[in-house]
Amino acid sequence: MYKAPRGTFDILPQEHPYWKYVEERAASLCRLYGYQPLNTPIFEDAQLFTRTVGKGTDIVDKEMYVFQDKSGHELALRAEGTAPVCRAYLEHGLFNLAQPVKLYYIGPAFRYERPQAGRYRQHHQFGFEALGEADPVLDAEVIEMACRFFLSLGLYGVSIQLNSIGCRLCRPGYLEVLTRHYASYANSVCPDCKARLTKNPQRLLDCKNASCQEIAKSAPKPSDYLCHDCQLHFLSVQEFLVALSIPFQLNHRLVRGLDYYTRTVFEVEPEGKGGQSTLGGGGRYDDLIETLGGNPTPAVGFAAGLERIILNLKRQNSDIPALPRPLVFVAYLGPEAKVEAMKIASQLRKAEIATILAAGDKSLKGQMKQAGSSGSTYALILGQEEVTNRNVVLRDMRSGEQRIIPLADVAMMIKPR
Ligand code: AMP
Repeated sequence: MYKAPRGTFDILPQEHPYWKYVEERAASLCRLYGYQPLNTPIFEDAQLFTRTVGKGTDIVDKEMYVFQDKSGHELALRAEGTAPVCRAYLEHGLFNLAQPVKLYYIGPAFRYERPQAGRYRQHHQFGFEALGEADPVLDAEVIEMACRFFLSLGLYGVSIQLNSIGCRLCRPGYLEVLTRHYASYANSVCPDCKARLTKNPQRLLDCKNASCQEIAKSAPKPSDYLCHDCQLHFLSVQEFLVALSIPFQLNHRLVRGLDYYTRTVFEVEPEGKGGQSTLGGGGRYDDLIETLGGNPTPAVGFAAGLERIILNLKRQNSDIPALPRPLVFVAYLGPEAKVEAMKIASQLRKAEIATILAAGDKSLKGQMKQAGSSGSTYALILGQEEVTNRNVVLRDMRSGEQRIIPLADVAMMIKPR
């Protein structure tokens, strides 16, 4: 028996109300803020991620699904959404439009991680990006959007963590200080952090290992080493958030797992956070587009994981609207009634009335059971006698009330409640 690959799962019909709910809220949020949809391919040139997310990050070093196609091109399944958006921005000359260009996406991302609750090898991200503008007002807008999104979903207790990690001018100086600080702890940190000391020192700050967290507490803070412009930018973002009444907590140890971030970084935590809890994260990535060969183009964005959102909606017993059920179930007994039933179902669907037609040779009891579990409002029942008399039994599935109506009147008699 085949099973879905480890770390992946099927989204069964009963789960779809959650997915539709989250996706609709995401799309309507983006309409509200003037962000337009963009779809990018499921796989990209592997270099797109290696160059932007960065060597030395877990995503690139350990988690990317890389493969060669039949002509020897090295491709990678989409590991995250921002680099593909920037690639599309450059490829289609979107820099020629009025800036900033505001885009959003919803789609799967693939990372070879150790599967656990809230962590999968295929997960889905909703992300939005504002490209081509450095104004901190956009950082605040993106954070406000993230907040409004979770609020509109009805998730309570969500909190925002905020930090600034500086730019390419001030960050090298900070990383030097940080590395010097950690030199005396080289034998006390975990093996991963030992590697980070040379490969990616910034990530020393957010190691989840308890003893590393203790060491990180005394580490120098990135925000103490910001250049003047980064300081001003960070202060403006905070001022704007206060003006928008968006509560946030400064977290000096917040860095993101992707190298392309500059200046503002933020994460959204659900109520009662724990292990794999972060609902979403984002920030500024002012150098990414240049890394891909474009002109210097500042940008800022955010991405959230749909599985984690749904996990939290379930934890909080949120009320999710049900998906519409079919209006009519058509049952029949006998070969002639079967043909008539098929014609009625076809006629109802032509009239935009959602209809399920029974199939096979089940008993009427069996068909009614199926009608009940389909959630249909009405059942139409046809036997030989009804075919001969050109009428049909109309059953109200909720009250159980039945009456006989002319076949010709079916579409007119059935109205959505
Ligand atoms: P990132 O691209 O790492 O910033 O991730 C953005 C969001 O996607 C995270 O905050 C999570 O909600 C979600 N996410 C990332 N990786 C996974 C994963 N392996 N499984 C499920 N959700 C994930």
